[in-house]
Amino acid sequence: MDFTLPEEVEMVRRMVRDFVKDRLQPLADQVEEEDKIPDDVLQEMKELGFFGLPFPEEYGGVGVGELGYVVALEALGGANSAYGNLIGAHTGIATMSIYLGGTEEQKRKYLPELCSGEKIAAFALTEPNAGSDAAAIETTAVRKGDKYILNGNKIWITNGDIADVVIVYAVTDKSLGARGGVTAFIVEKGFPGFSVGKIDEKMGLRGSHTAELIFEDCEVPAENVLGEVGMGFLIAMKALDVGRIGLAGGAVGGAQWLLEQCIEWANQRVQFGKPIAHQQAIQWMLADMATEIHAARLMTYHAAWKLDQGQRVSREAAMVKLFASEMANRVADMAVQIHGGIGYMKEHFIERAYRDTRILRIYEGTSEIQRLVIARDLLKAGK
Ligand SMILES: Cc1cc2nc3c(=O)[nH]c(=O)nc-3n(C[C@H](O)[C@H](O)[C@H](O)COP(=O)(O)OP(=O)(O)OC[C@H]3O[C@@H](n4cnc5c(N)ncnc54)[C@H](O)[C@@H]3O)c2cc1C
Repeated sequence: MDFTLPEEVEMVRRMVRDFVKDRLQPLADQVEEEDKIPDDVLQEMKELGFFGLPFPEEYGGVGVGELGYVVALEALGGANSAYGNLIGAHTGIATMSIYLGGTEEQKRKYLPELCSGEKIAAFALTEPNAGSDAAAIETTAVRKGDKYILNGNKIWITNGDIADVVIVYAVTDKSLGARGGVTAFIVEKGFPGFSVGKIDEKMGLRGSHTAELIFEDCEVPAENVLGEVGMGFLIAMKALDVGRIGLAGGAVGGAQWLLEQCIEWANQRVQFGKPIAHQQAIQWMLADMATEIHAARLMTYHAAWKLDQGQRVSREAAMVKLFASEMANRVADMAVQIHGGIGYMKEHFIERAYRDTRILRIYEGTSEIQRLVIARDLLKAGK
């Protein structure tokens, strides 16, 4: 067994690390205050290939596979969560839906401009009455001639306000249930009847927005059915499997960065005449953090590697999403504890990290839903 990362993946890691240190970290407070990624930074990210990392070069991607993508998201951990969130929604689930479910023609049409970041994508599944129970979506799509007419509302859609292309999941035949009755559509910003509603005020993730998307007799050409009619739910679940591995990579990176900040602080903060790092209580927290991060990293790399081998990863994807997001929350909690009062202050980045980490246990399937996926798979396989 060889744990050495391929050279091209190491190169991606170095590139992202340098970019985070030189460009993103100095802008951390600005992004938090203005709730926006600066346009010039976004442009640099496009030029560096951030938007198409896992996809093959023939579609305009960087071609470093899921492992390279995961390592990049991990290396982004030292920056505001907004960047990983933007990439996670765009690449991990939205563009991924086209890559996994699209026809060859659709891939050739959409992937190059999505991989270059010229166009931004969003993944629209959640609705007011369908969160964890994604099969309960109510948005409808009815065929009329060479078009489908979409009606309904999607909520909390990451990149919803800036997306040029939205993958929208809608019911085409209620009688067939989700598997067979849900279809995915590639909706472009200018399609008649499509509009962006409320932009949400969130606990954290400033610089990354979620929005309501409204479809009022929205006209979508029939050729924009993603893949085949009735395959939408399967495409969504497959894309989420992949997205969850990337999300775990981001969780590992964020936790690693917090650990490094805690080590620095523990060595520097003096109480009772010596650095708090000399206290066993602090040392044990650092040891627990490092151990959990190591476990999550290995699980995540393994799931990414397995996916790159073309193997089924539903169970592993759920496991790494569950473990890494819960781990990151434990680490964030310990990071506040190690920092004491300063970690609770708005002026300090630990406070921001604590708020930003909380979402990991909720989106792309809550921790409870991951356990449900794992348990179902266990009971089916008998092992
Ligand atoms: C910041 C943010 C960004 C998001 N981005 C997107 C996006 O880009 N695209 C998109 O489509 N959606 C997005 N979402 C939606 C997100 O995926 C959902 O919030 C998530 O799937 C949970 O659904 P819900 O919030 O409706 O919770 P609910 O489904 O109402 O769940 C509430 C609670 O009940 C639990 N629960 C529900 N069912 C069960 C069960 N069967 N067994 C045990 N426990 C259960 C849940 O685990 C949770 O604890 C985003 C959400 C947020 C907050």
